[in-house]
Amino acid sequence: MIWADRIVEEIQRRFSTEISSKTPLLIRDEKTLSGRVHIGSLRGVVIHGLIAQILEFYDIKNTFQFELNDFDPMDSLPAYVDQKNYRKHMGEPLYRVPSYEIKTQNYPMVFGEEFVDVVNSLKLPIHFYHLRPLYKEGKFNEVIREALDGAKDIRKIYKEVSGSVKPDDWYPLQVVCEKCGKIGTTQVISWDVKKEIVHYVCKKDLVKWAEGCEYEGEISPFNGNGKLAWKVEWPAKWKILGVHIEGCGKDHSAAGGSRDVGEHLAREVFHYEPPFNIPYEFFTIAGKKMSASTGLGASSKEIAHLLPPNLLKLLLMRKQPNHPIDFDPHGNTIPNLFDEYDRLADHYFKRHPEPDPDFARTFQLCQLDPFREPKDLWQMRFSVMSFVLQMPHLNLEGEAEKLKESPLTEHEKQELDERAHYVRLWLEGYAPDEYKFTILDSPPSDLELDDDQKAALSKLIDALSNLSHWNGKTIHKTIHAVKEQTGIAPEALFQPLYQLFLGRTSGPQVGWFLGTMEKEQVIERLRGP
Ligand SMILES: [Zn+2]
Repeated sequence: MIWADRIVEEIQRRFSTEISSKTPLLIRDEKTLSGRVHIGSLRGVVIHGLIAQILEFYDIKNTFQFELNDFDPMDSLPAYVDQKNYRKHMGEPLYRVPSYEIKTQNYPMVFGEEFVDVVNSLKLPIHFYHLRPLYKEGKFNEVIREALDGAKDIRKIYKEVSGSVKPDDWYPLQVVCEKCGKIGTTQVISWDVKKEIVHYVCKKDLVKWAEGCEYEGEISPFNGNGKLAWKVEWPAKWKILGVHIEGCGKDHSAAGGSRDVGEHLAREVFHYEPPFNIPYEFFTIAGKKMSASTGLGASSKEIAHLLPPNLLKLLLMRKQPNHPIDFDPHGNTIPNLFDEYDRLADHYFKRHPEPDPDFARTFQLCQLDPFREPKDLWQMRFSVMSFVLQMPHLNLEGEAEKLKESPLTEHEKQELDERAHYVRLWLEGYAPDEYKFTILDSPPSDLELDDDQKAALSKLIDALSNLSHWNGKTIHKTIHAVKEQTGIAPEALFQPLYQLFLGRTSGPQVGWFLGTMEKEQVIERLRGP
């Protein structure tokens, strides 16, 4: 059984009451829009989205709500943002920072829109909401009151669970400064329960990344004037929205970490049972953990651009949540992922001699609509296609039909074109040298062959000359027959074949490769050395 089905079983056990009374289960995840959204954030999206899809399949009502957090303070200035124009906004709540794109409502949504586009391409049952309007509409008023009343308990829980000591006048709320508009610089120093107002100071040096204006004032903490500290806000959101299921990344999951603190706060301050957790590991790029502020190279949009959506989904769900995922666009990750997809299809369509149900299930669930029967399509292997696309004398569809040994269906032609699009992107921008091929105009002058190799090649020339059907299969058979007859080591025979045409010692399957060229051309080249 694969991880997603196992988790759904656990969810069914824990929420059996809700399920039998048809109470919809609420699944939640979020992202703060402080910069371009890293590909790693898609891991949570796919984990939660897949759970939602499986629950839906079992007729278990659920909603997957994804928060676009636009109320946190702007606390970093990504390298790709105009430093001069945006430095002054540091410390302001994100929603107040102006956009640098004409059509986008504000700064966070520059990143939000890009992310939403990528997520939508995965066709998951997901509903986006913005954080700020919930505060403004007063949805947080009750939990803000509980948090301010319970400030002492919260300080105690912080200290006991995470070891973080807060001063006695610390309150888990920051308000937007009425003078300078910043939120990251303010500190609430008292809470008047009767008047329902907080007293706050906008401090010059509260944080390193922004400077406050030193204003002091009093304001109601409700209706969007203030925002809870995020470790307190997290469990508060569970309560407000009625969250049943919410996983989180490894960075939050450690003992004494924010999840641990959040669960204590949920039970002890907000009197709410914390949601079902699905802790998940990091997503690294070529072994490196990326942060949103370091900029290009790993945003969800850039990586999504390199893969068809179902393969992107496969990349994000093929490993169990507690295993890290690494993606190296310049390494073998992309070709391996396509090969894995084809292998999983072999298991699903029972072309494999011993079909594995977990592989078949993974294939099914990585489809964009996992509950519609996928079509059994002939696909050209990624490595074969990358070779064909580099050979100016070859026609992709023609080679595909030769390999399939029958005409392609319309659907197969579409798939072929789609895959070719991604193979080209990879060849143009990322493919390592070992995948780059050109046919030499003439045989290499420095090729040295021993007597056994010369004898075998001469036999091969004769045998190939006598072939009446010139194609990959017959050539493959002929080469192997010569190898058997002469007793030559395979590499001693294959290497010069690659060297003569490609100037290197390895390449695609040799019979197929020679079959892509004219018979006369091949014989002449073999006679060459
Ligand atoms: Zn201020």
